[in-house]
Amino acid sequence: MPEGDSIWLAAARLRPVLEGRVLTDVACRWPRVVHGLVGKQVDRIETRGKHLLLRFSDATTIRVHLKMTGRWRTFSSGFPREDLGIALSTEAGTAACYRVPDVERIDDRGLSDHPVLAALGPDVLSEGFDPGSAVARASPEAMVGEALLDQRVACGIGNVYRAEILFYERQDPFAPLHAVRDPERLWATAARMMRENLHPGRRNTTGLPHLDHWVYGRQRRPCMRCRTRIEAREVGALPRVLYWCPRCQAAR
Ligand SMILES: [Zn+2]
Repeated sequence: MPEGDSIWLAAARLRPVLEGRVLTDVACRWPRVVHGLVGKQVDRIETRGKHLLLRFSDATTIRVHLKMTGRWRTFSSGFPREDLGIALSTEAGTAACYRVPDVERIDDRGLSDHPVLAALGPDVLSEGFDPGSAVARASPEAMVGEALLDQRVACGIGNVYRAEILFYERQDPFAPLHAVRDPERLWATAARMMRENLHPGRRNTTGLPHLDHWVYGRQRRPCMRCRTRIEAREVGALPRVLYWCPRCQAAR
């Protein structure tokens, strides 16, 4: 599932193909998104949480959000057209995104008041990320399991990290934020776990070679700490399955 670390890694893969290079060809399921881009330079590639931004020399930006299905791939020559969302080619190759539902072109003048981007909280993976600034943006009444996913509080955390952070911190996911003893720890752990996964290969949140996740995807299996069965339940306005150990993460 694409979370902030996946987007950071995608940007790192795309840079050698695109950054500082002139576009020689473009293709897009929504042709207006790439209109007039051939001959323009890709000035730089940025990430903001789960959004990837391609900044061009004509003072426009393409914003891409992979949602649940999208995937970036790079090719040295040629690329498959099936399920193609957008493809950008330079003399160094092609960066193509497949099965992507959310792509738009933005005039740079509109970037600072973009309805989605402007509302994002600080990026968990940004240099000097301050967990206290995330806590300050969250509602004290919010359920802690929901606050961690709220991109307006801090951006980049998705469903896998939410479950893993809460387990690691032995935190009841259903508690209101104001009842958490040291809420900054949750976002500090988020930043640490995600930074440890800024390398290619499988995401691992345990540090153990034989176990990728403590609770995520492990419903009805025994907790690695206490052997209690892991529970799973859809939670939130946009239901996503929350995984937790009812004993290690019991209400205090
Ligand atoms: Zn347990």
